[in-house]
Amino acid sequence: MDKTADNKTSSSNFIKNIVIDDLAAGRVKEIVTRFPPEPNGYLHIGHAKSICLNFELADEFKGRTNLRFDDTNPVKEDVEYVESIKQDVKWLGFEWDGLFFASDYFGEMYERALLLIRKGLAYVDDQSADEIRESRGTLTEPGKPSPYRDRTPDENLALFARMKNGEFANGEKVLRAKIDMASPNVNMRDPVIYRIVHAHHHNTGDAWCIYPMYAFAHPLEDAIEGVTHSICTLEFEDQRPFYDWVVAECEMPSVPRQYEFNRLNLTNTVMSKRKLKQLVDEQVVDGWDDPRMPTISGLRRKGYTPEAIRAFCREIGVAKSYGVVDERMLEHFIREDLKLKALRTMAVLRPLKVVITNYPEGQTEWLDAENNSENEEMGSRSIPFSREIYIEQDDFMEVPPPKYFRLFPGNEVRLKHAYFIKCEEVVKNEAGEVVELRCTYDPETKSGSGFTGRKVKGTIHWIEATHAVPADFRLYEPLIMDESDEDDAEDKSFLERINPNSLETLSGFVEPGMKAAAAQEKFQFFRHGYFNVDPKDSAPGRPAFNRIVSLKSSFDAAKA
Ligand code: ATP
Ligand code: MG
Repeated sequence: MDKTADNKTSSSNFIKNIVIDDLAAGRVKEIVTRFPPEPNGYLHIGHAKSICLNFELADEFKGRTNLRFDDTNPVKEDVEYVESIKQDVKWLGFEWDGLFFASDYFGEMYERALLLIRKGLAYVDDQSADEIRESRGTLTEPGKPSPYRDRTPDENLALFARMKNGEFANGEKVLRAKIDMASPNVNMRDPVIYRIVHAHHHNTGDAWCIYPMYAFAHPLEDAIEGVTHSICTLEFEDQRPFYDWVVAECEMPSVPRQYEFNRLNLTNTVMSKRKLKQLVDEQVVDGWDDPRMPTISGLRRKGYTPEAIRAFCREIGVAKSYGVVDERMLEHFIREDLKLKALRTMAVLRPLKVVITNYPEGQTEWLDAENNSENEEMGSRSIPFSREIYIEQDDFMEVPPPKYFRLFPGNEVRLKHAYFIKCEEVVKNEAGEVVELRCTYDPETKSGSGFTGRKVKGTIHWIEATHAVPADFRLYEPLIMDESDEDDAEDKSFLERINPNSLETLSGFVEPGMKAAAAQEKFQFFRHGYFNVDPKDSAPGRPAFNRIVSLKSSFDAAKA
């Protein structure tokens, strides 16, 4: 059944087709899905794909979705992660039906393990982890049965009880399923289902010192909750026979089915909580929500919207084939989302002072500026203009190359929303650097006045100096550099591929209206791209802006 549909079907989501078939054939009455993160880190954009898939499927077919924390490993888990995961799922716009912890089922899982023992389908093994691994065999050779494999159910019940009572040290004994040491599927060669871990658990405290293994716990969790479609990533495909074995042999009344899909991989990105945690722990980045991180909290802080992330997840589809998605596709969706929503204002990131020598001293006029040239409904605002303004340093060149249409000595440009100015004089400091331009303006050329006397080729942005609001700008480049040679990229540790120039911080100016910009408010800065007001580093009167994305990219989403 799993192979009946793949990415070649009409829908770009083959699991949706399975759901449609299951409902039509009456195999299930109501769709129940779940998103089952392990609370050992913050969620990333790959998890968003899984969240969207699970929640949107259930929403579409009037089913239910649980948020379930797969907290069967006491050592790596933490409440901080639980809270962040809840926040991220909600922020993406989803509401879970049930909120569960796998650890809530430890009692029932233990009972099911006892049932397996009584049925002669599980045994306590005294071999070490290494011995178990070595006797597992290979793809071509069968495994070797453990010398403890033939313990009787009574012996096993007694030993398992002693494991539970804390009579053994970590690793001294395990409980294994008794299936088939010669199975062609290595996962069926008596997998370990319980191990001893003397550790405090964030939810159950010190109640347990034996913990179920993920492969045993997961099908039970799904069955206990009545999950119908248990969706996971492709690495679990070989686990499916064991998943089905557990559900059947533990005699679970409800039978979930596992379906595997391709995990999301993005260019220039590492996508594993373990690696992301390493970046945080080694202070390569400034926390899990550093805007360079592919975490949901990082993307949020950078300025991504839930709408953009959801649209992206819908577009990439759900298939069974391995692939790497170009990160520029994600960028495409935030541009699309903000295009008609974001206020379009001006910001000068690298300021150069300009004095307009023929503009009356002490005079300020307020000019009309439309808020979004593609969305009239957003109205307009007034911006000040006076004798002193800032422009962008690279909008001036003393010796311009061919086809340079911005300011240079003797040249005239249009100031966006204002007048034409002409560069008359360049002022330098002792080091010979340009520190100020002296220009003249032509009052006839006021924007919106219908002036047609002459044309200029360049339009530049600016900020009036006396009302300018100081601001910080953070520009990002990919944190991880992809190797051109794929094999090479795999070999090199991702820590060796950190881009040393992933963050550039600049100080400049924004329009006076933005003095009170709210945290997470998003703007399009003329010619610079989309920016988000940083929720942590903005100070009163001095906002900090994170660049979400530049205005244009060479990327063609349709061809991706
Ligand atoms: P990581 O390796 O990043 O820790 P994980 O798979 O161990 O990921 P879990 O917390 O176990 O993380 O994952 C919760 C759910 O999210 C699982 O169903 C998993 O399949 C899914 N998931 C994780 N990473 C991706 C990804 N890159 N693309 C799609 N789904 C993913
Ligand atoms: Mg995991």
